[in-house]
Amino acid sequence: MNASASTLPLELGARLKRQFPLLHSSDVVYLDSAASAQKPSTVLEAMETFYRNSYANIHRGVYRLSEESTAAYDEARVTVAQFLNAPSEREIVFTPGATQSINLVANSWGRHFLKPGDEIVLTILEHHANIVPWQMIAKETGAVIRFVTLNEDCTLDRAAFSAALNERTKLLACTHLSNALGVRLPIEELRDEARSYGAKVLIDASQSVTHFPLDVQALDPDFLVFSGHKLYGPTGTGVLYAKEELLDAMPPFLGGGDMIREVRTEGTDFAEVPLKFEAGTPNIAGAVGLAASIRFVLSVGQEAIESHETALLGVLESKLKEIDGVRLLGPDGARVGLVSMVFEHAHSLDVAQ
Ligand code: PMP
Repeated sequence: MNASASTLPLELGARLKRQFPLLHSSDVVYLDSAASAQKPSTVLEAMETFYRNSYANIHRGVYRLSEESTAAYDEARVTVAQFLNAPSEREIVFTPGATQSINLVANSWGRHFLKPGDEIVLTILEHHANIVPWQMIAKETGAVIRFVTLNEDCTLDRAAFSAALNERTKLLACTHLSNALGVRLPIEELRDEARSYGAKVLIDASQSVTHFPLDVQALDPDFLVFSGHKLYGPTGTGVLYAKEELLDAMPPFLGGGDMIREVRTEGTDFAEVPLKFEAGTPNIAGAVGLAASIRFVLSVGQEAIESHETALLGVLESKLKEIDGVRLLGPDGARVGLVSMVFEHAHSLDVAQ
């Protein structure tokens, strides 16, 4: 694509910038949204309004504020479920972020279901959050991790992927969109192949959730995770989507308040899903902020976001290619939202600075 700056739909960018106080009130040019996004005023206002007018602890009080607060938290879960097209809000667990979501799956599902010699398939593209919890639980359970490598052009080596799968494969945990290369993985194909061996499939949607719509009924993962802060929501918020029968079969990871039905000195009956996985006072205002961030994304329109970002990416790619000594990683047409590159004449840290 040979787009020039003049073909960019700049009005959308300018209109959106006005909705972000930190960007609007300064001359900041912010290029680190893959790590964490700035917050629109609707998210900030939703949280402030909630703290000012409705705040109390949830699922325990019989007074007005607690009821309002509980309703806001429960409605946020419905908003997330609708956003992901999940069949039920019972399949949405609030967590403090994608890392915690994966740790929950590793410590609950992994510790309970993995046996010595079972295999976990990961790609070499995974974020540390989707490597380290599996290494920890593999060490504990005797499971084995197999990493799938990349081709020269930074796409996944499909032959190596097929070779990594066998009857011992119990889990494929795989990113949807690489935070390092911006390359989108053929997740549906990978899911089907892994599932033909009976493996469960975890999709790390931390990057993809901000760039295009996710439909868990179409993607059909067993687990899907993302963080709220990359989706213009508050830090300390995240989501674990999991099929309800899996959540039912999994033991709780953390114990404490809100995840119990009845506590006796001899033992405890746990709450039903998803509360079984939400021990302690949750990030109530965070959930309200995350729901507001989803409404923000929907108000802009996910199609508008996708086409605007594709146009920006086209300009970035063509301008970078004009610079002598810059090599873009990954094949053209496969990148979403970011470009990784190698500089032949300079150290990357010097260029970044
Ligand atoms: N997976 C991917 C692909 C990511 O990009 C990130 C954040 N960089 C994470 C997982 C972890 O997210 P968090 O730090 O918000 O838990």
